[in-house]
Order: sequence, then structure tokens, then C-alpha cells
Amino acid sequence: MVILIIGANVGGLASAIAFRRAGHEVFVFEARNSVAPDITGGTRLPPNVTKILYHWGYERRLKKAALMSTAIDIRLLRTGEKFGRHVWEEELIRDARGDFVFTHHGDFVRFLHDIAEELGAVLNYGCRVADVDLYEKTIVLENGQTYTGDIIVGADGAEGITRPLFVSHHDQEPLLNVYSTTIPEEVIRSDPVTADIYDDTQPGLNAAWFGYGCAVLGWPCKRPEYALVVYGPPEGETTGWTQQGGKDRMLKLLENAEPRCSAVRILIVISELSLFLNPPSLLRHLRRFAPALGLAEWARDPHIVTVNKVKPLPDWYHVDGPLALVGHAAQPLAAGSVQEAAIAFEDGVALGRIFSHLKRSEQIPSFLEAYEDVRRERDIRAYEKEIGDVEFMTLPREYAEPRNALMREKGQGGRNLFEVNIPTDDGTSDGWEEWQRIVDQFAYNAEEAADDWWQSEGKVIEASRGGMVDGPMLQILVAQNTKEN
Ligand SMILES: Cc1cc2nc3c(=O)[nH]c(=O)nc-3n(C[C@H](O)[C@H](O)[C@H](O)COP(=O)(O)OP(=O)(O)OC[C@H]3O[C@@H](n4cnc5c(N)ncnc54)[C@H](O)[C@@H]3O)c2cc1C
Repeated sequence: MVILIIGANVGGLASAIAFRRAGHEVFVFEARNSVAPDITGGTRLPPNVTKILYHWGYERRLKKAALMSTAIDIRLLRTGEKFGRHVWEEELIRDARGDFVFTHHGDFVRFLHDIAEELGAVLNYGCRVADVDLYEKTIVLENGQTYTGDIIVGADGAEGITRPLFVSHHDQEPLLNVYSTTIPEEVIRSDPVTADIYDDTQPGLNAAWFGYGCAVLGWPCKRPEYALVVYGPPEGETTGWTQQGGKDRMLKLLENAEPRCSAVRILIVISELSLFLNPPSLLRHLRRFAPALGLAEWARDPHIVTVNKVKPLPDWYHVDGPLALVGHAAQPLAAGSVQEAAIAFEDGVALGRIFSHLKRSEQIPSFLEAYEDVRRERDIRAYEKEIGDVEFMTLPREYAEPRNALMREKGQGGRNLFEVNIPTDDGTSDGWEEWQRIVDQFAYNAEEAADDWWQSEGKVIEASRGGMVDGPMLQILVAQNTKEN
């Protein structure tokens, strides 16, 4: 079958790989001119992503582009008070059958691109899709070229052209703005105020600063860069990942933060000049005049993205034609959150895996329905958890004190912080449930979920329609688990 994929970021590329592994012909159309977005921040990839890549044989290759996450330190943004540390226990990671890793978003997109290309997907860049005709199963590019396929995958993100085919208007409410950027490692290490952000005994240390109405996350990438994500109140127009700017606004949010995060606005221009010239000696020289710089003013101009509360779409596939949505086109997740890229990746993996059982075009509608059954609830649950987490990190002061007190108590007791009790509306606490939600997310395997559907329902439906369920499947291009790539 011929698969047309719109968008070549995480969701589109994961779909391309999964459909190629299932033996289909794959054509990807991406509006951007380059293989990876030119300037991006960091991405965190939890075990539910890495286990699939490891299973496909790409463990060694991923580890060249990613750094293993070991722990997270949580602090109060205003004072820098450390609540404590959460260490990812070996047992949890072993049970999840993958690692929790940090990478640079651009490096991860390039990593997926290279695999998709090696497997034979045809990847077209600088090709914006202008129209989709569901009845004709056709896409039309801006330059007028037309392509017809058997299945169309909408992987064009929250602001693409496929999502509006499902809803007449965006039912969403802006919750927060996210500023995502990176800072050169050299800058952080060379400043005594910020140097301890890198802990050489814990190279994969994630940092979180919980604030009042705002919060900061940071983690080292494999490149000598530190990823910084700043959450603050929504301001200005709603934006997606395509908009850069807002560094001034980001710095303003951090004005009253602890020294490591605080802003010294007057030095922005100097810092950018020094990044342009870049020799570390110049940086050190500048530091003599600016001894107590915070992290943020060294940051490159950030992407500015709105986190919206979004009403889930009624469907993950279109009833009028063979169109499935994956990733943010289906369900936008909070920017900067742990599962943001992971859910897009899982969608593509599950969709391709379900279609590995395809033998006849008449099966397509029921397979699309299966995709929705396998993914919709998982995506919505992940969305709700991630929104809940960013709300928790950014609670307004009047609600934040109980949060702080509880985390302080756990930290002082030497406990792992995510097992902290979280107060609920009815005054009870559900710390264990919160922990269980993390475990469930990490333990999930998108390929196995698709296989479960085939074993429990797909085969039965096929048999009832007279299909040959035990015959040879479509040619599998890649032998699983056979060799390291
Ligand atoms: C430019 C950019 C930079 C990003 N940087 C980061 C980052 O630093 N850290 C991070 O965690 N996440 C980043 N993300 C977000 C991350 O990729 C997504 O949040 C998540 O992984 C979901 O991916 P997705 O593939 O579903 O959607 P998206 O990432 O939104 O990708 C959609 C893709 O579809 C393309 N597209 C849209 N409309 C059309 C069209 N009509 N025709 C053809 N192509 C189209 C877009 O150019 C884009 O590449 C970035 C996204 C983008 C677009």
C-alpha cells in the first residue's frame, strides 16, 4: 500500500519508520526546507520511547545522540531551596525495559530521519501540503503537484492542515507560555553561581524549579548544551513551535528567581555578542564585570509555545476517507513535558504496527478504527497527566504552600520526591496513585498494545470475514532484534 505522510517531525518520522518496517511504500512531505528544525531546544525521551528503539536494534546509535538521565533535583524557584532529589530506581527502569534519556530535539529528529531514509521512505522537504482530498485519497502540494495513496497520515502538528478537518474551531484555552532554549555548557560551568548545575557524579541530572505561576526545567543534552524550559503565564498570541522570540519576557519571569535562574537584563546584549564570538576566554573576561549572572540571560533566543487546555478530538481517524492523525495533530501535549515527543512517537509506531497485518484495502477502515481504540485513551491520559504536572509546578502562591510543605517533608525524610503525596480537591492525598501513573506511562509498549489488539480482536474480525489470518504477512523489511545498527 502507498502511505502519504504529512509532516516530518517526531510523529511523521516514527510513522514512516513503522510503515516501512511493515513493508509499505512511504512518501513523506515536510514544509520545512531542512531535515531538522534549525534551532531547537532539548527533548526528554522516557523509557516508553527508548525500549522501542532498542527493540528495533538502534540502542548503540541512540546512545551516541543521547545522555542517560539518572535523577531530578527539585528546588523552589524563588529561593533555590532544595526540596530533594528523585533518583530513577534501577528496578523501575529495568521493568520499563528502556532508559530515560536526554537529547537535543534537532539531533533526535535527524536520528529518526536517517533511520526512515535507510529503510527506504521517500522524504520530501520544502513541500508544504496545501490540500487534502479524502474522497480521492489525494494530497495537493503548494506547487500544485498531486499525490494519491491508500492511507494519509496527518503528522503536521497542532497547527497543520489535517487537524481542522476534524473540528471547525480550536476548542482550547491558553494555560501557560513555554520558552524553550539551550545554553552553552561552557557558560554554565565557568560561572561559580551556576557551576553546580552540572554534577559530574550525576551526569544525567535533570533540574526543576517549582515557582508561583511559573517554573523552570533544565537538563544537559549530549551536545555541550544545557536545555532550559521556562513556564509562565500566557501572554500575547497563542503560538506553536514555529515562533521564536520572547527572550525579554522569559527574563522578566525570572527577575525574582534564585541567582542561578535570575536575569540581569542589561547583560543580554553582551552575552549574545560573546556567544557570537564564542571563545571561552572572552566569556571569562566578561564575567569579571558580571560575576553573578543567572542562567537565563545566556540563553539563545527561545521558541515560545503556548500550552493550551485542549478538548480532545472525537476521532483519531476520519470517517470520510483513510486519514489518521498522529502526534500533536491528534492530541497536542504540553510543550516541554516528559511525554510530549513520546506520545507522537508511540502514535506512529502503533499505527504502522497495526497496518503490518494489512493484506487488502477493504481492511483499512477497521484498521483505522483499531488505531483509534489503541491510541486515543492513552494519548488523552498522557495529555491530562502532563497538564496536571505543569499546573503542579506552576501553582499560584496561595495553593503552592501545601505543595512546598509536603515536598520539603519528603525531602527531609530522604524519600524519593515523586512519591510525595499530592493534595487533591477533596483534601485527601494520592501520592501513590501519582507514582503509579509514572510507572504505567514508562512501562507501556506501543507495539505490544497494537499486537494485543491483533491477537484479541483483529484476527477474530479477519477470520469472521473469511480472511487468511495465519498466512504470510506482508514482507517485513527489517528483521527484528537481529543486529545492532
Ligand atoms: C520547528 C519545531 C521545533 C521544535 N523544537 C522542539 C524542542 O526544541 N524541544 C521539544 O521538546 N519539542 C520541540 N518541538 C515539538 C515536538 O516536535 C513536538 O511537540 C512533538 O514531538 C510532536 O511532534 P509532531 O511530529 O506530532 O508535531 P510537530 O513537531 O508539530 O511537527 C509537525 C511537522 O509538520 C510540518 N507541517 C505542518 N504543516 C504542514 C503542511 N501543510 N505540509 C507539510 N508539512 C507540514 C511542520 O513543519 C512540522 O515539522 C518542535 C517542533 C517544531 C515544529
